[in-house]
Amino acid sequence: MSERVLKRQMRGMTVVAVLLCLAVLLAGWWAASALRNMLQQALQSQMETETARYRLDIERRMEVDQQTLRTLSGFAALWETDPQALQHGLEAAAQQGDYTWLGYFDTSGEGFYAAGEQGAQPTSLQEIDGQVAALARNALQGQSGVSRIYTPEGSGYNRFAYAVPAVVDGKVVGAVAAGCSVEAFAGILDTLPDSGRQGAICLISDSGKVLVRPQSLAAGGLAGNVFETPGFGGENGEALRSALLAGESCFVQLKDNNVEYWAFAAPMGVNGWYLLNVQTAQNVSNGIYSLMSFSRWLTVAALLAVLALIWGGYRAIYKRSAEIIQRSCYDPLTGAYNLPRFEDEVRAVLQAGRPYSLAALNVRQFKFINEIFGRAQADTLLCRIKQVIEAGLRPGECFCRSGQDLFYILFLETGRAALKERIQNMMDEVGRYAMSKNRDYQLLLYCGVAVSTEFLDSEPTVQKGLTHVGFALHTARQSIKHSIWFYDTRLHEDEKLVNYVESRMRQALSDGEFTMYLQPKVSLATGKVAGAEALVRWITAEGKTIYPGQFIPVFEDNGFCVELDLYMVEEACKQIAAWQKAGKTPLPLSVNQSKLLFFEADYVERLQAILARYGVPAHMITLEILEGLAMENREELNEKIDRLHAVGFSVSMDDFGSGYSSLNTLAALHIDELKLDRVFLLQQSGTGEERGRQKVILKEILHMARELSISTVAEGVETAADEALLKELGCGLGQGYYYSRPIPAGEFTEKYLRG
Ligand code: C2E
Ligand code: MG
Ligand code: MG
Repeated sequence: MSERVLKRQMRGMTVVAVLLCLAVLLAGWWAASALRNMLQQALQSQMETETARYRLDIERRMEVDQQTLRTLSGFAALWETDPQALQHGLEAAAQQGDYTWLGYFDTSGEGFYAAGEQGAQPTSLQEIDGQVAALARNALQGQSGVSRIYTPEGSGYNRFAYAVPAVVDGKVVGAVAAGCSVEAFAGILDTLPDSGRQGAICLISDSGKVLVRPQSLAAGGLAGNVFETPGFGGENGEALRSALLAGESCFVQLKDNNVEYWAFAAPMGVNGWYLLNVQTAQNVSNGIYSLMSFSRWLTVAALLAVLALIWGGYRAIYKRSAEIIQRSCYDPLTGAYNLPRFEDEVRAVLQAGRPYSLAALNVRQFKFINEIFGRAQADTLLCRIKQVIEAGLRPGECFCRSGQDLFYILFLETGRAALKERIQNMMDEVGRYAMSKNRDYQLLLYCGVAVSTEFLDSEPTVQKGLTHVGFALHTARQSIKHSIWFYDTRLHEDEKLVNYVESRMRQALSDGEFTMYLQPKVSLATGKVAGAEALVRWITAEGKTIYPGQFIPVFEDNGFCVELDLYMVEEACKQIAAWQKAGKTPLPLSVNQSKLLFFEADYVERLQAILARYGVPAHMITLEILEGLAMENREELNEKIDRLHAVGFSVSMDDFGSGYSSLNTLAALHIDELKLDRVFLLQQSGTGEERGRQKVILKEILHMARELSISTVAEGVETAADEALLKELGCGLGQGYYYSRPIPAGEFTEKYLRG
């Protein structure tokens, strides 16, 4: 998983998390509104019931008051004839204290008036309060009634009055009126079921004026007019006002100082009076309200828990994934990308169709650095290279470490000159790094580059790009002069051949396309053919010959040389067996053996099995190994040689002198034959002085070999002069074009094998 994928997944998770939170919120909101509806309904019905009860109480009180008046008016027939009795009746009723005053008026508007302990006084409708007079006049017309609330001049009290007609023989003869204090209602309103509750029931007019407020109503409660009370404004206040004017009941929610109130106004049906019941939501239905608060807190808590869970999970996943990505995408030593991650980056550039260049940077002799300066120093060097490359990159470019000292770089640059300059700067910068204070070691790098615009493959892939760079790097390593090498046409041809070789090798082996050629080894003393070297040729089905130089290095890289070399041993045995069978004296054959095969655990056994299969004695086979082998595991090499000797094989060291081998190496190895590389003879064509020096070396080698009883073969004998020189120096055998080129086994048999 790349960082990009992780980020995408994290984004996905965030969306899921947000959706989850929204779901929780929605559920919370739904629960809250359901509870709210429940609460509202419970409130409304409770307040309606409560208000109806008060209304009934008030109505009952008013009915009782009026009933008393009606009873009094029954005495009207008596009062008509006996004004004294009327006065006494009024005084007696007034003294009972149910009314603030009592009065009787006859049809002419004249009458008596009694209040409290005072005796009855004569009065007339003109003298009393206009409202009460109007009420009394209505009663004289036969209509009972209740007055609006009024405040007698100078009293400051709120009063109201009743008036009923006094009827004698079906004829209205007068009107009985009585004044009441509204405080009588306050007493009723004070009898709230739960006195500890916040809220109140009061009597108001249809314009909102508070007519009767219970004593329990807090001082800071309702204003003189409910609409002047804070919280009674706004839309809901307006709804209440309209309902009052229309004479309808109304249930509204009000809010003041973050406290929710519910108000229920019910018309009394008298004089525009209303009962207004105001309660806090909490008061009315404590259970539901608590549930509502609880659900609100529960939602918040659930939300927080979900958020905490998501956040925790998110962080844990991110950390874990980041660790995995770090491990799977980065080189643990330097912190640079690793190859798979780098390939992803290159792929993205490739898919975007952007031109780019790939470079492979390597340290010369890194193995040597590792051994001389130690692993820790070599690691520090690698980290230093990483820093230098990093500093030299531009936005969009990247690099990785692949393998020990190999760095791949992706440049978004295609100009050769610019690339060369940038890479050279990096190399110079690394070159300035001192490996050790005490040792003056010049760090050298080499680099292969492939520019995408120069080699547009029909189907470009990252892998192909890296292979191109690999070829350029390989060439750069071989060239001492040019440390930066660009992938070019010649390398392209080489690469094509390698591709062909790798894709065809197995089939070619089973189809017998690998053919054994033989090149004679001639005794310099007698001029007779003493043996031959088996050299492989790949003759394709189309008849094209491919030489070992073109495919052996590839097989050494991919390991196929193990199979090919055993195949060649088998071909050599087959040939010897054929010669034996044909009654010819067989010649010993030399077969080249690669390093990979030589160190295979069951190498000796596999060789023995081949010998056994063809009935060929081991001394007929000489195994040629390269001098490079002697540079590494000398002890292991000698052990293997000893085991081969035990079976009967001869072992020859090939290409001696082409590499780093010394006379010491020669002395230390248990070999039977030494093959001198053709460079010795080539050097004989140099200047006189050089030739002389080389001749001395050659002479020394041959002398030493003789001393060690190692037979000698000179490779690359091309001229009679070469032969003469070798004879003079005492070399045993010669091999080269002077005698014969490698030729097919059949031709060799005809030419050199006598029956
Ligand atoms: P080598 O074992 O040193 O073989 C000698 C090479 O020198 C042969 O090249 C041969 O054709 C060439 N040669 C012989 N005489 C002369 C001469 O007078 N002048 C010049 N210029 N060249 C001469 P070839 O056959 O191309 O083989 C090249 C190398 O490929 C061999 O070098 C050997 O290392 C490797 N090789 C060949 N066959 C096999 C094989 O079956 N297995 C393995 N592992 N390597 C093989
Ligand atoms: Mg050889
Ligand atoms: Mg050789």
